[in-house]
Amino acid sequence: MKSDIEIAQAATMTPITEIAEKVGLSFADIELYGKYKAKLPLDVLKKFETNKEGKLILVTSINPTPAGEGKSTVTVGLADAFAQKGTRVMVALREPSLGPVMGVKGGAAGGGYAQVLPMEDINLHFTGDIHAITTANNAIAAFLDNSLHQGNPLQIDPRRIIWKRVLDLNDRALRHVTIGLGGPLNGVPREDGFDITVASEIMAVLCLATSLEDLKERLAKIVIAQRYDRKPVTVGDIGVAGAITMLLKDAIKPNLVQTIEGTPALIHGGPFANIAHGCNSVLATKTALRLADVVITEAGFGADLGGEKFLDIKTRQLEKTPDAVVIVATLRALKMHGGVDKTDLTLENKEAVARGFANLKRHIQNMQAYGIPVVVALNQFESDTEAEIEVLTQLTQDLGVEISLTQVFAKGGKGGLDLAEKLSPMLQEKADFHYLYELETSISDKINKIVTEIYGGYKVNFSDKAKRQMREIEENGWAQLPICMAKTQYSFSDQPQLLAAPEGFEITVRELIPKIGAGFIVALLGNIMTMPGLPKAPAALKMDVTNEGKISGLF
Ligand code: ADP
Repeated sequence: MKSDIEIAQAATMTPITEIAEKVGLSFADIELYGKYKAKLPLDVLKKFETNKEGKLILVTSINPTPAGEGKSTVTVGLADAFAQKGTRVMVALREPSLGPVMGVKGGAAGGGYAQVLPMEDINLHFTGDIHAITTANNAIAAFLDNSLHQGNPLQIDPRRIIWKRVLDLNDRALRHVTIGLGGPLNGVPREDGFDITVASEIMAVLCLATSLEDLKERLAKIVIAQRYDRKPVTVGDIGVAGAITMLLKDAIKPNLVQTIEGTPALIHGGPFANIAHGCNSVLATKTALRLADVVITEAGFGADLGGEKFLDIKTRQLEKTPDAVVIVATLRALKMHGGVDKTDLTLENKEAVARGFANLKRHIQNMQAYGIPVVVALNQFESDTEAEIEVLTQLTQDLGVEISLTQVFAKGGKGGLDLAEKLSPMLQEKADFHYLYELETSISDKINKIVTEIYGGYKVNFSDKAKRQMREIEENGWAQLPICMAKTQYSFSDQPQLLAAPEGFEITVRELIPKIGAGFIVALLGNIMTMPGLPKAPAALKMDVTNEGKISGLF
């Protein structure tokens, strides 16, 4: 079997102008970034705003294992399947961050014959959006430090600065730094730190903004520090919301590319799925819904994290809820949830599949509780056996839920036709969607609902720090924002080793961090890494480029 990059490089791309035409966009509607990429200016959304809104399918998954479950792969392959059936379809995906690409992931634009192209560009600098976010983020930091240096008119307490600098790389050495050294001419010395760019609140803001005006308003509200009297200092207070919006004026436009089979795909924005909401931009999804009859999109990590946040955070800005949900599962991951060691995943083990099913079952029931119909996509790997597939099929059907053996990795769209067939009738019905919680509910009740009803936990504890922060959030009038849970992706609980479907556990909220620009309150349940480190043998060691410019080693 060829590697992902070999398959991608062997594919023939169609000029992006022709891809645009498939969804009714003319040459005048798009801004070309070379032959195979384009940006969609925001007036495209206005121009097509009266088009009938398409149907939305959300792809999510069981709790991931270190292998990755193949959500992006299934998302892309499912879109190609709908295209093969003659449906006007679009994909709306997140953009990969360079940190994980060079670190462990090695690429994140689908896999096998279900990929988006140009794969190398998408995984590297793409259209520069992430770099624009890096610059915008660091400009705020520079203006803040300048304000401290110029007599500190806002009375900012240098010990209580929240805003960090960012870089789109994994670089643990920058997590804690000291800046402003070298005497009075070089600013005010203070502790600082770097996050990875996709963890910047600006990434979350860009992905939830619905217009340039909304972007500017949200940027102005970002809290960057506290004054000596503990009152919040915002980007608006330092007077640069306009300048920062200017730096993002192109980054806010969705990027149009194509799948291997020539299906139009919007790849735009990529916030972390733990300290942020983990979905591509609202503007890209909104635009896709006006251009296509069916839109397939994905949320990061499992249905307990990205899925829950898609439904309780993103849809409130999107003003559209999914018509169906696909939960991706692999037998390998279910076996891990069933207690099998990572080294034994290729051995047949029906009992472990049945035990691990507990994880899938809870995710199915959770998604159904929102009132949305669910289909399970079994992303087939070569090592899967007939007997194991049979066990999973039976268990899923016993719940009255359809399951589709999905072979898009090996076969492209053809391998997703059955999944598309199973989804089609659901798209004709109107889903009876309801939110997990109302925004007016108190912060602790919202968190309680997520923990007891989605995670299956028994009780939520709040640290003293979190209790104090909750009072501050209430005093500032921010208590009606949705909650963005930041916990491990590996477990329903806050302990990564508790696989399958743990019960009776307690969860501790250590901190509550208001992200007022993004418009959510982050509830931190554990140590969430906002600047990842590199592994002993980073993926970058295998990457190269020939003298002719051909890239290798992006898997
Ligand atoms: P996720 O979106 O869940 O993180 P991806 O779709 O990015 O997962 O896939 C993760 C990795 O697994 C990719 O390298 C992809 O090529 C690989 N992969 C996905 N599905 C399969 C499959 N059916 N067989 C083999 N490898 C796969």
